[in-house]
Parts: sequence; C-alpha cells; structure tokens
Amino acid sequence: MDGKLRTLLVSVEDIIMSGESTDTPSHQYSELAELAGGFIHEIKNRVGTLSLNLQLLGEDFETPETQRERRSLDRILRLQGECQKLVDLASDFLRFARVQDLTTEPTSLDTVVTRMLDFLAPTAREQKNIEIGWFPANDLPPVHIQRDLFEQCLLNLMLNAEEAMPEGGTLTLIGRCDGGKSGEVEKWVCLEVIDTGHGMSPQQLAKLFRPFHTTKTNGNGLGLAISRKIIAAHGGTIEAQSEPGRGTKFTIRLPVRMI
Ligand code: ADP
Ligand code: MG
Repeated sequence: MDGKLRTLLVSVEDIIMSGESTDTPSHQYSELAELAGGFIHEIKNRVGTLSLNLQLLGEDFETPETQRERRSLDRILRLQGECQKLVDLASDFLRFARVQDLTTEPTSLDTVVTRMLDFLAPTAREQKNIEIGWFPANDLPPVHIQRDLFEQCLLNLMLNAEEAMPEGGTLTLIGRCDGGKSGEVEKWVCLEVIDTGHGMSPQQLAKLFRPFHTTKTNGNGLGLAISRKIIAAHGGTIEAQSEPGRGTKFTIRLPVRMI
C-alpha cells in the first residue's frame, strides 16, 4: 500500500473513531463523504490497472493449446470479470456521491424519453421480446432538469424493468400532468414507468431504495438509490408500487415552475 492510500485510510479511521469530536454532524458527514470518494477513486484506478494487466495476460493465452492453458485462461477471464464489477461499483458509488449542485434547463420530457427509446426499444423488441410504448399527454409543460442525470435515472428504471421480464413483456411509459388546478399551489409533471415483470413482495418493496439492496447475482443495488437522489435533487419524488407476478410501476414527479 503506498503513502497516499495509507493516509486516506488513516484519515477515514480517525473520523470514524473520533466520536468525541466537537465538529457538527453535517461537517463530519461531508468530510467523511469526501474521504470515502477519494478512497474509492483510488481503488478504482488500482483495479483499472489490475484489469488492464489481466487483459494483457489473457492475450498471451489467446489460443490455449493444453488443458492447463485453458484453465489459466478461464481463471484470467473470471478475474477480469470481477475487476470489471469492482470498477462499475466504484463508478456508481462516485456517481451517487456527486449528485449535488444541478445545472438545469427547461426540457421537453417527450424529447428526452423519445431519444431514450430510439436507443433502447429496437434491442428490447428484437433480443428481449419486450414491447415499449410511450404515451405523453398533449399539454406537458417543460421540466427543469439536468438532462444527463435525468437520463441516467430513466435508464436505471428501464434496465431494472427489462431485468424483471426475462421472458419478455410490456414496458409502458406515461407522461402526464398532476395538480395545478384551482386552489393548488404545486403543479407536477409525472412520468410512470410500468412493467409486466415478476414484481416484488411488500418486504422487498420496503427495502427498495436502500443503497446496496439487490436481489441479483450481478447487481450492486445502487441504481435506485442513485435514481432517488437524482430526482430529490430536482425537487421531485419517486415511488414504486408492485404486485408479485404482475409487475411494477415507478412514478416520478417533477415540480413545474410557475413562471
Ligand atoms: P440492482 O439492479 O443492481 O439490483 P437497483 O437499485 O437498480 O439495483 O434495484 C434494487 C432491487 O430492486 C433489485 O435487485 C430488484 O430486486 C428490485 N427491483 C428494482 N426494479 C424492479 C422492477 N422493475 N421489478 C422488480 N424488482 C425490481
Ligand atoms: Mg438496477
């Protein structure tokens, strides 16, 4: 372990151990978050180097001639897969930590969703037997979003929906307006993402947005935690309803600025 990494580890340990510190909890939290971010960044770089070297090693065994070489190549590929998972996990963790100050602009929800579907729908239909439908209301006002973050949230929901329908099914997206009638202060644009997948039990539903909660062998349980953080940073909400064996509906609500 080199000096930089050791210093980071010691500092994290110091903060965790210093229960008697006079710092405010929020200061302690941001300091810890910053150190954790630096730590993960460091780990990600190291694992990236490991992965690159494993790739080079794998190339040496590209055409295995003996049983032993085949076994070695198998192991190298497995190690490389594990490294990739760690890099993805670190990227998601850093993404989670970085959702803070947004740069938003008025955006048409229809344009964002349509662009996303142009990209995802053909593969979903041809390779996964999933039909995707998008039904935007005519009167949708623009939403103030940071587009790349919002797209990331939508992508997380759509990938989860696809993973919940391994045998195929239907994914329906509905865009509608809510509130803003006489007497109501707030007006919202709602986006519903509805799948016909395996659904969730009430127990699973209760843990849904917790970081690292996953029921998948290859999942990391950060997708929904990040999505909720993104929507909350926009002043919105995200919630889920689900029925085992029937499907799941996620509803995103974004506030509309009354100008
Ligand atoms: P991951 O996909 O890596 O498991 P997520 O945070 O995206 O992490 O999702 C957490 C868990 O929530 C999933 O493992 C799954 O159990 C459940 N889940 C999320 N979306 C759906 C869905 N559309 N249908 C059924 N279960 C879902
Ligand atoms: Mg996911």
